[in-house]
Amino acid sequence: MRYVVGIDVGGTNIVVGTVAEDGSEVLGLVSEPTIAEQGADAVVARIVKLARASMAEARRKDIVGAGIGSPGPLNTKTGVVILTPNLGWVNMPLRDRIADALKLPAALDNDANCAIFGEWWRGAARGVKHVVGLTIGTGVGGGIVLGGEIYHGASDVAGEIGHMTIEANGRRCKCGNDGCLEAYASGPAIAARAVEGIESGAETALPQYVAGDLSRITAQVVYEAAHDGDAYALETVRDTAKLLGAGVANIVNIFNPEVVVICGGVTLAGEKLFGPLRSEVQRRAFKPAWEVCRILPGTLTGTAGVYGAAAVFMQRTWGTC
Ligand SMILES: [Zn+2]
Repeated sequence: MRYVVGIDVGGTNIVVGTVAEDGSEVLGLVSEPTIAEQGADAVVARIVKLARASMAEARRKDIVGAGIGSPGPLNTKTGVVILTPNLGWVNMPLRDRIADALKLPAALDNDANCAIFGEWWRGAARGVKHVVGLTIGTGVGGGIVLGGEIYHGASDVAGEIGHMTIEANGRRCKCGNDGCLEAYASGPAIAARAVEGIESGAETALPQYVAGDLSRITAQVVYEAAHDGDAYALETVRDTAKLLGAGVANIVNIFNPEVVVICGGVTLAGEKLFGPLRSEVQRRAFKPAWEVCRILPGTLTGTAGVYGAAAVFMQRTWGTC
C-alpha cells in the first residue's frame, strides 16, 4: 500500500497527515498554528517540519508523494500560489518549495477544493457522482466535484462559491465586490450581523455570553445562545440559513448535484441551521433538482483538507483515487 502526505494550509492552522492510498487510515496527524505574520519562509519551514513529523510516524510505509491544499487563487499546473490576502503571499512557488524540501513529487490545489474532494472521497459525499460544497469558517470557500473530478474552470478559479453575489447592492466583501455570500455567511459575518442587531436594540441574552463585550461575540457564541433558546440568536441562525439557502439554491439549479456538503464551524449550529436551509432551497430551486439533492454536513471534521490534498496528488499522478 502506498501513502501520500496530505497538507492543508489554512489561514489559522496547518494540518498534515499521511494518508493510505485507499483512504483507510491517516497516520501521523499533526497540526500547528500558521502564524502567517511571521512571513512566507517561516510558514514554509513550519509546513515542512510538520510534514517530516507526520512522515516519521509513518516511516515504515511507502510514502510516494505530497498533496497540498492552499488558499488561492493559484495555478494547479505551475504549483504557484498567485495571491493570498490572508497569508500575504504573492506568486509563491509553494508546490516546488515543499517538494524540494521533502524530496517528494507534489501537487497543489485550492484548500476548499481539497476539503470538498476529501468529503467526496472519504466523507459525507462518498459514492456520489456530482457534489458541490461549501467550507464556512473565517471565509466561505467552495469546491465543485463533477464526475469524480475537481472542476477547475479555465484558470483555476472555479468553485469560488463564497463570492457568488446574493445581494446586488449588499454588504461589502473582503474581495472588493458587494453582496457576496461570504459577506453574510462567514463566521465573522454572522457575528457582525448579530452585533449590528444588538446595537439597534434587539432583545437578547447574547451580551451575557461575553460579559457585555460585544466584540467577543463569535458565530459559535450565536449558535450556543440559539441552542439555549435565545429567540434573537435563533433568528440570526435562521437568517443565515435563508441567505445560505439562496446561494445553495443557485448551486442546485446550476449543477444539479446529488449532494451539497457544508463543512466548517457552521455545522455546529446543527438542525437549527440545516432545517431552514433545506426549506429555503426547496422554496427556491427547481423541483427535479432539489428532489435528488441531499444537503449534508461534512463528516471529516478538521481532516477533509488532508484527505482531499492527498487524493488530489493520487488522482493527478495515477489518474484515480
Ligand atoms: Zn467576495
